[in-house]
Amino acid sequence: MFDVTIIGAGVVGNAIARELCRYKLNICVVEKDSDVGNGTSKANSGIVHAGFDAEPNTLKSKLNLIGNSMFDNLSKELDFTFKKVGSLVLCFNKAEVKNLEKLKQQGIENGVPDLEIIGGDKVREVEPNISKNVVAALYAPTGGIVCPYEMTIALAENAAVNGVKFKLNTRVISLKKSKEFYIIETNRENIETKLIINAAGIESPGLTSSPAIAEMVRDIVVSKLKPEKNDKFNPIRKEIPKFREMTNEERKRMIASNPKYGKIIYRCETVTEGEILDAIRRPLGARTMDAVKKRTRSGMGRCQSGFCSPRVVEILTRELKISPQEVTKFGNHSNILVGKDKQSSWHQMEF
Ligand SMILES: Cc1cc2nc3c(=O)[nH]c(=O)nc-3n(C[C@H](O)[C@H](O)[C@H](O)COP(=O)(O)OP(=O)(O)OC[C@H]3O[C@@H](n4cnc5c(N)ncnc54)[C@H](O)[C@@H]3O)c2cc1C
Repeated sequence: MFDVTIIGAGVVGNAIARELCRYKLNICVVEKDSDVGNGTSKANSGIVHAGFDAEPNTLKSKLNLIGNSMFDNLSKELDFTFKKVGSLVLCFNKAEVKNLEKLKQQGIENGVPDLEIIGGDKVREVEPNISKNVVAALYAPTGGIVCPYEMTIALAENAAVNGVKFKLNTRVISLKKSKEFYIIETNRENIETKLIINAAGIESPGLTSSPAIAEMVRDIVVSKLKPEKNDKFNPIRKEIPKFREMTNEERKRMIASNPKYGKIIYRCETVTEGEILDAIRRPLGARTMDAVKKRTRSGMGRCQSGFCSPRVVEILTRELKISPQEVTKFGNHSNILVGKDKQSSWHQMEF
């Protein structure tokens, strides 16, 4: 029996799972897809919103603001890329500047710091590529950008290392309540749990608010189950070393310590075999082509995976001890290869 079962392994579900690891709880995350972060958390704008958009005095505005303030620390602990580049809401004619004033006022009510309306010339100073037609902008220095799936994977890996059980490819079908616990019926098994957290998709800005949502949910869970603190909680996680971002000296050292980093598998993005192996072998390791892609950028470059996909299939086949036919793009029935032709070459499935 689990203490807490979280439905959905998006950024919100994983942030909650990781936050709950601070307590001695038996936690499970149930996800219908073959990997974490395959829903909206994979494909959004990646903006860490400053917090001026939400209606004042709402839970949404509060969680947005708190969430934003947590990114500096969280990105350091979990080693994911976060850049506090600031955000600009652009205005193209003088008559609309009053709308920027309203937005600024709303932001001030929400507690967003350092908001400023700046003129066109200043905007182009901050961001030289912006159109000449911009007359003013609302500048929010606390806005930022993040790679949303990188963050989601980082949260999930850290939760897994701290003991959270992940049940992937497991779709929740129905929930039943017995006297003392809940039964979650899935396509694979029934899961018994004391509490259920439904994190199967929240609206915007769930990416920004996720760390704050996690703290709020943690407090609810703690008030209900009264668990002991987990002194063994480890908040630190390290990302896969990125060969493409290393200096030549760093590359030499990396190859000396692990020769697999000396073999380029995906030349468009300079992704090495070492990185792909790391993606497969680490906690919650990649099991599909898309999972390798999200963790290493293989297939994200110019050739759109034309060069690297046969090599990645080979590596997955070898590492997972499966046949090439069993390798999928994203789980379920998305197998890449259908069989061999007369020359014994593999035939690729059309998507
Ligand atoms: C186009 C777009 C741009 C956006 N831009 C931003 C932005 O810049 N900044 C920002 O802060 N927010 C943005 N958002 C919002 C943000 O992406 C979402 O709020 C956030 O990703 C929600 O995360 P989640 O974990 O709640 O949901 P999801 O990522 O959707 O995760 C839910 C998970 O639940 C799983 N699931 C669903 N049903 C079941 C079931 N029955 N059984 C098991 N698992 C199930 C899904 O497979 C999925 O993995 C944007 C949204 C969109 C659509």
